[in-house]
Amino acid sequence: MEKNFDSVVVGGSISGLLCAREISRLGLSVAVLEEDYEIGSPEHCGGLVSLDGLKKLGIIPSNRAILNEVNKAKILSATKGFEVSTNRDNITVVDRRELDKQVAYQAQKFGSEIRTKSLVTSINYDSGKKEYVIKTKDDIFYTKFFIDARGITSLINNSNRDGVLQSAQYEIYADWIIPDEIIVKFDKVKYPDFFAWIIPSGNGKGKIGVAGRKINTLQTLESFIESFSSKYSIIRKIYAPIWIGGPLKNFVFNNMILVGDAAGQTKPTTAGGIFSCGMGGILAGNHLARYKKNVVNSSLNDYETDWYLIFGKEFQRMLFFRKIMQRLDNKSIDAIFSLISDSDIAEISKFATFDFHSFALSKILGSKKAIKLISALLGNEFRHILN
Ligand SMILES: Cc1cc2nc3c(=O)[nH]c(=O)nc-3n(C[C@H](O)[C@H](O)[C@H](O)COP(=O)(O)OP(=O)(O)OC[C@H]3O[C@@H](n4cnc5c(N)ncnc54)[C@H](O)[C@@H]3O)c2cc1C
Repeated sequence: MEKNFDSVVVGGSISGLLCAREISRLGLSVAVLEEDYEIGSPEHCGGLVSLDGLKKLGIIPSNRAILNEVNKAKILSATKGFEVSTNRDNITVVDRRELDKQVAYQAQKFGSEIRTKSLVTSINYDSGKKEYVIKTKDDIFYTKFFIDARGITSLINNSNRDGVLQSAQYEIYADWIIPDEIIVKFDKVKYPDFFAWIIPSGNGKGKIGVAGRKINTLQTLESFIESFSSKYSIIRKIYAPIWIGGPLKNFVFNNMILVGDAAGQTKPTTAGGIFSCGMGGILAGNHLARYKKNVVNSSLNDYETDWYLIFGKEFQRMLFFRKIMQRLDNKSIDAIFSLISDSDIAEISKFATFDFHSFALSKILGSKKAIKLISALLGNEFRHILN
């Protein structure tokens, strides 16, 4: 079958679906092509997100989508640790299979055509007709606007692989998981350039994972789990790459628009992307519709500008803190953790937010004492990073 749409989104996950929702809400036709058989499945996510962030995305998660509530976070280094309250932010663990279906429902109610089991096999630009020709096994789609929401697959093909890490995450039953506490564990030897995590997902379950550079994720994850207890049952396993390289400089190339993971819109510190990628989808959809409708002074590049206005400085700070963490060894991280005072912890608990957490990082790595220590440890390298 041959079909014409104002726009075609390839990738039916959070950023692609939100983009389609906005495009159809503003009256244009849009098809979403998703290779998997079911929206939201298989799930490649911890599901940790703030309710405030979801609200900004126009999503009030259904009861089925909400798995659990988180009230505190334990941050551990090799031998030290501290705990902060996360109450301020309404941090929630969501089931991405349900959440993504909920967004798909919103999008299709506005008129988006969502197709699962539609692996896109080729995307070509016909410069004569100024349109994209997008093929799946069964259909050919013609459109002026191609939205690339294929996630990290697209990013890996198009950019520097330095920002890619491998991750493994198991969902397990274990009675030792604390129901409302996230755990983040740094260990430069075991999880170089990243960390291990536990996200409690309710009813005695948790999502427990590791990521790092050049590690055997499976072995590393199993030994992380065993470090708590050998009593657990595995419900689901996922192995997936994550992106910590920061956003691409440009998201718009003529009428091709990158959104979400495909544009590198995940946090460079935690690789969390539901909020920032979802916002990418919304902004792209809005500006595309304005541009297509010839709204005066509208431009597709306004999407880039607006995303950078919201996230640019924050992501830059996160990249800066990441660079510092990458250069510190376990002993140095332990030493920095020892400098964290009760009043720092109180301030982090009171003022830090989940979606914009560089404030918390600046409390940990940016205090006078920490900076003195870091500059002594890193010497000229620190000045280089600062520059
Ligand atoms: C282990 C892990 C844990 C995570 N935990 C969290 C977390 O707790 N909180 C958080 O905020 N973020 C988390 N993230 C990140 C978050 O999942 C992503 O940032 C977010 O899903 C990005 O959404 P997206 O729509 O841009 O891309 P994706 O969710 O990657 O979706 C891309 C979609 O494109 C489809 N696709 C790809 N190629 C094609 C093709 N050729 N044809 C058709 N369809 C195609 C894929 O099937 C997929 O559905 C985690 C990621 C991982 C890997």
